[in-house]
Amino acid sequence: MPGGKRHALGQHFLRDAGMARAIVDLVAPTPADLAVEIGPGQGALTGELARRAGRVLALEVDRVLIERLRVAFPAIEVLAADARAWDWTSLARPAGGRALVVGNLPYSVGTTILGALVRAPRAIDAMALMLQREVAERVAAAPGSKTYGSLSVHVQLHWRVELALRVPPGAFRPPPKVESAVLRLRPLPAPRVDLEDEQRFEAVVRAAFAQRRKTLANALAAGLGLSVGATREAATSAGVDPGRRAETLNIQEFAEVARRL
Ligand code: SAM
Repeated sequence: MPGGKRHALGQHFLRDAGMARAIVDLVAPTPADLAVEIGPGQGALTGELARRAGRVLALEVDRVLIERLRVAFPAIEVLAADARAWDWTSLARPAGGRALVVGNLPYSVGTTILGALVRAPRAIDAMALMLQREVAERVAAAPGSKTYGSLSVHVQLHWRVELALRVPPGAFRPPPKVESAVLRLRPLPAPRVDLEDEQRFEAVVRAAFAQRRKTLANALAAGLGLSVGATREAATSAGVDPGRRAETLNIQEFAEVARRL
């Protein structure tokens, strides 16, 4: 395969069978479950999923790999499909079983695919996703940490997130330049906060983190085109000191501020 294409599709193939098992163990498929794999590639995780899950759907965009996978794994369904555009909310959960999502995501589009997946907390029961370590850490970060940001808040609103495994470059062929990590994500029974307007909440969080070194009031004023007086007042009435930095606010505090803006 030409290097350019491999690079564009993020094709670093896992070569460590123990690691493949450990990743699949995070969602522990059973014969009652449907497992959807994103980017099966040369099948490192696919074999493990096919052995354990009742039904496996694999979404791949590389036509050559799709043909090879269909030959190597005749019992599973290999679909020519882009995981970014897949409608995850309409995934059909099997009767009495779970809908699981597993994937070693291509780095270049990992965050976009994650963004599509996290919109479907009612359709998916558990996910094990490998991402670039730096991205995985941002998703899992807690308030007060340097990596906590709008991605953490966006995902954690509906999902319980665990940084489950670290994977060194040597586990792949060719080895990537960055480290990888696997997240386990499980949907919360209800969002961490009840939001009247999720879009407004997201806009407030994005604005707060867009200039993370500014105070909350200044960042919100700049990002939302409001006066500093208005943003100070909203924060204060939400019980949040307007001089704090965005990275110190938890999801409930962002929701309180958003409600008053
Ligand atoms: N799962 C395999 C493994 O662990 O060895 C391959 C992982 S490789 C990092 C990423 C795979 O995702 C590649 O096979 C690539 O062709 C595929 N891919 C890239 N973009 C995709 C997309 N938008 N939707 C689905 N698969 C994609």
